[in-house]
Order: sequence, then structure tokens, then C-alpha cells
Amino acid sequence: MKFWFLVGLLCLAGQLDAAAPATWRLDVLHGLEGGKEQFRKSGLWQEPLLWQGPVDLQDKLNRGDYRFEITKSATGELLYAQSYSSLFADWSLSSDTSHNERYFEESLRFPAPEVPARLQIFRRQLDKPGQPFQAVWQLDLPSQAQPAPMPPATDSIRLLQAANTEEQAYGLVFLAEGFQAGEVEAFFQAASELSQALFQYAPFDRLRPRMQVHAVMTPSTDSGIGFRNGGQPLDTRFAVNPNALGMPRYALSMEVHAIRNAAMAVPYHSIVILTNSSDYHGSGIFQTYAIAPAFHPRREFLLLHELGHSLAGLADEYFHDTPGYAGSDGTIEPYQPNITSKAGLAPLKWQHLATEGIPIPTPWNQQAFMQNRQMSTLTAEPHQGVVGAFLGANYSAEHYYRPALACIMLLDMGDNHFCPVCQQAIVEQIESQLSAAP
Ligand SMILES: [Zn+2]
Repeated sequence: MKFWFLVGLLCLAGQLDAAAPATWRLDVLHGLEGGKEQFRKSGLWQEPLLWQGPVDLQDKLNRGDYRFEITKSATGELLYAQSYSSLFADWSLSSDTSHNERYFEESLRFPAPEVPARLQIFRRQLDKPGQPFQAVWQLDLPSQAQPAPMPPATDSIRLLQAANTEEQAYGLVFLAEGFQAGEVEAFFQAASELSQALFQYAPFDRLRPRMQVHAVMTPSTDSGIGFRNGGQPLDTRFAVNPNALGMPRYALSMEVHAIRNAAMAVPYHSIVILTNSSDYHGSGIFQTYAIAPAFHPRREFLLLHELGHSLAGLADEYFHDTPGYAGSDGTIEPYQPNITSKAGLAPLKWQHLATEGIPIPTPWNQQAFMQNRQMSTLTAEPHQGVVGAFLGANYSAEHYYRPALACIMLLDMGDNHFCPVCQQAIVEQIESQLSAAP
């Protein structure tokens, strides 16, 4: 089915809900210039589909390094707020900051305001207690947005999973990276299989009736991702680099605006880019995108782990591998829901889920695990299966604690299990995107 025909149908469906406002998207460039953080407006677009979700969302979960707010110009009244993370934040925390001046694309989506409004961006002060947000940029929004640029007519869409609810559904969209036009069925099949796999695991199994999944075939000139033998990059739709920011297997696309232009063809909250690759790589940036390989044997693990980051803002619970981020000394309690520092042990932010009577911190044999890094070492532990506070998380063996011995945010255990704290964080995030908290 041709792209715009289907988009037309979707628009028609959207128009039935006369109360829903248009979807606006502010594309910005976010970077460093002369040693100072800078933002530049790249475009303000009206997307083809009406806004999906609460129009008055005022994100209270705040799972990102950044937050944007829409306020009434006249009174300052808060209309909408959403936290997020970005490529820039990722780059700033990585050890690859050799280029002092660099800009990254990011996109902020929100319901079109009915009155003159202002958009403000806030950055977390990660080194201050409470990691509070501080205003770093603002823009008075014009009264109208430009129609978003049309995606290529060769894009096509398939519905992989329909929601089973009369209410608003949470939308997930798979985009194709490195698939040529002739590989369309390979992409749709891989996306369909991964979509089915996702709903086998908690908490997505119980969220299934409230989720819908689309795949958008976004063809590339070349097949595969990465580089030719001579070092030249392949010509692919989103130019995914499988070893980005100087980190092996850390796959990133810098083409965030093009990614948003492809995703906007369907109702969505969360984006997954499937690479035409059987290599091991991935990434997940909160409220931006997840990347996973379509054909690696551990693709289900990679998809779920990266969705933990991109959909729910979870931290890595592993400490036995350091991916290249500058270490933190644990003196400041981190904001992520699934890790804590020594200062956060009493009470735990996940106290309500902690197993009754469990000692905090919870003893375990970290040394034995470090010797073989095997799941079997964890299952032999006396506190396997309980929720407590286990030393070793967030790239540090000594400064941060995680809620359970084993979790997919720690390592690939073969069962794709999120610990109870991560499961609850995913449910909370999805629910917050569907109805604003009272
Ligand atoms: Zn976890």
C-alpha cells in the first residue's frame, strides 16, 4: 500500500476525535560552541496526525537529563511538560568529547497550544543534590507551524499489533535501517517477529491490550549498515554508525529529524530502528529512539534492554563492563528509578517493592560473579529472586546499588527478565503517556 494513501486514512481516523489538537514538533540543534551549551531552532513542524495522548501532560516521572515545558506566554501557566534525554547528553557523558564544537539533532513533540506560548528547555544539574533542572534555553512559539516535510513515496506501513482498547493506545513504531527496497519483506518479517517476542515478556505481556505496533519501511540505497572495506560509510536511510562516540557496538544515528519524519506517518510514542545486520550492537536514548539488529541471535535481549532505556529511562545496572562513560563517584543520588547510591539506601526509592525483612544493603558474592560473569553464579545466591539493594550498578562496582541480583538491565540471562522495579518503571512510563496523572 502506498504511503500517502494510508496516511490519509490515518488522518481521517484522527479527525474523528475533534477534541484532539494538532501535533507540533520543534526540531533543534543542540551542541557545544566555544565551550558553552547552545540550542538552535531548526524548524517548527505540524505533523500529519493529531496529538495522541494527554494534552496536559506534566511529566512527574522526570526520567531524562533534560525537560521541556510549554507555558502560556501571558501568565506563565504550565500547559505541558516532558523530560527526555538526547544525543548531546550521551556525548557529553562519554569520553569522546575531543571535538569541542559539535551539534546534535533533537526533536520535541507536543500538542499544539491554543494560546500564545513559550517553550523552555531545562538541563539537569547532575552534580547537585536532587539533580535539579535549570533553564538553559527558551523560544516564543509562533502561532503557526509549517506542514512537516513529506517522507518519500516509497515508504510503506504495516500494522503489526492492534490495541484492544477503546481508549488511547501506546504506539511503538519499527523503522528500517539498511534495508533496500527489495528487502521489504525481510524487514516486515523481522519487525513482526520481534513485536511478537516483545509481548512474551513482562511487563509487556500484560500491557499488550493497550499497545499498538506499526512498522514503516524506510528503504536505503545500500544494504547493511556501517562501512565498506575501504572505510567509506554505506548509504543508508538513517546513517547508523555501529561504533559511535568511540564505543564499540554502540550504534547511533545522528539523523534524529529524518527519523521523526519517518515515524510521524503512524501514531507513536516510542521508536525502534531495526538495522539490517546480524552483528551485535544497540542503543537506547530516553524519549528519542532504540536501535537493535534485526538478525543477531540475541536480538530479543537487545530490543528489550534498549527499550528499557528509550521507553522507560532506565539506567544500566551493569558494572562489570564500562562502555566508555566517565565514572561517577556516587556522592549524588541518581534520578533513575532502578539505581541508587549509598545516600539513597534508607529509605530506598523502591522500598514499596523490597522484600520484607531483607537486609539493606543486601549481601551477595560480587567477587564470585566477577570471576565468571555467569547467570548460574547469580542463581546460586541465597537472595536470588528478592528485591533489595545489591552493590554494583551504573558502571560502578562500589558506588551504586541495583534492586535485584538479576535483571535484563544487568546482563543477558537468556530469559529476558526485567526485575520488579524495572517492570514497574516501564508500566508507570507508559501509563503517564496515556493519561496525565491527577
Ligand atoms: Zn532492573
